[in-house]
Amino acid sequence: MKWSFKLGAVSGIDIRIHFTFVFVVIWAAVQGVSGLGGIRGALFAAVSILLLFVCITLHELGHSLVARRLGVRVKDITLLPIGGVAQLETLPERPLHELLIALAGPAVNIAIAAGLALIVLPLGSTAALLNPGYLSYLLLGSRSLLALLIYLLGANLILALFNLIPAFPMDGGRVLRALLAMWTSYPRATRIATRVGQLMAVGLALLAFSSFGSISLVLVALFVFTGASYENQIVQARAAIRRLRVRHALPTHPIYTVATEDALTKVLEMSYRTYQYAFPVVQDGMLVGILSRDDLLAAFQRGDRDMQVAHVMQREFPAVSPDDMLLKAQQLIAQADVIALPVFDQGYFLGLISLEDINRTYANLSW
Ligand SMILES: [Zn+2]
Repeated sequence: MKWSFKLGAVSGIDIRIHFTFVFVVIWAAVQGVSGLGGIRGALFAAVSILLLFVCITLHELGHSLVARRLGVRVKDITLLPIGGVAQLETLPERPLHELLIALAGPAVNIAIAAGLALIVLPLGSTAALLNPGYLSYLLLGSRSLLALLIYLLGANLILALFNLIPAFPMDGGRVLRALLAMWTSYPRATRIATRVGQLMAVGLALLAFSSFGSISLVLVALFVFTGASYENQIVQARAAIRRLRVRHALPTHPIYTVATEDALTKVLEMSYRTYQYAFPVVQDGMLVGILSRDDLLAAFQRGDRDMQVAHVMQREFPAVSPDDMLLKAQQLIAQADVIALPVFDQGYFLGLISLEDINRTYANLSW
């Protein structure tokens, strides 16, 4: 993420912080001066907000460590004024994995809250702590350790509950998507979760404007609304890519062929004239080899310019049919390390398909 710098790393996962975060601490300190009074009030408020963000970091670490355990790579964790974001490099493969990863964050906050409750409860009588008047005196008027602990306890409970709102792409929304994906397709589950999430975002924004007047709630609503549609687009595009077949990417323009006894200089001249990156080599109406421009240039560099096509062409290559999945063709090209694959339809040679053709088809799709 832009404008963020690295704070440190926890078991190989970088923790980064966005520069706007500084303003959150300053804002808290200013609130502390007016609310709690003086430098000590400012310090108390700043420490409280920093400890809150420690809890948010632990929440994100909960997601990240479970994700890594399930084979999902984690890029880093970035702390923003509105909370933290753990960036996963890949998407979890199975709905159950996504469910576990999504629940891990709020589970950390519940564990912290439970731990704090064990410390707080012996410090004061339960009846007094449940008294709203006493509680607001503690939180708003005092700078005691007890107040700090209660503040963190409440904040962790709110963090857990707020993140479990089914507003995709927030944790609760991911839980919803994972549950939906257990009985319908992943793209459809994502589409439904996105709609629910955007509805929730509108609700959050209305709530923010009507009673709370909280700017950070507006930002969260905006984040949810745009984040949901962005993730939905990625998922739908990936699903579409998985449905593509070789015939969708097969070039339609005519393809020039060469013969085994053709001179390399002739093919080079053809390649400059036609911009064709590879030539099928045909003998008696049969495809016997492929000559790529790279092979051709390599031959010229070696000084083999008087040779014939038969000497430098590739004779072994995998082939695909127009009904094969495009992803399979892409894998074959990478595995065999060839520039293009011949496409055969029941023995009939249709043309060549290259990585360039495949990437162009993906690009058109995302448009
Ligand atoms: Zn989370």
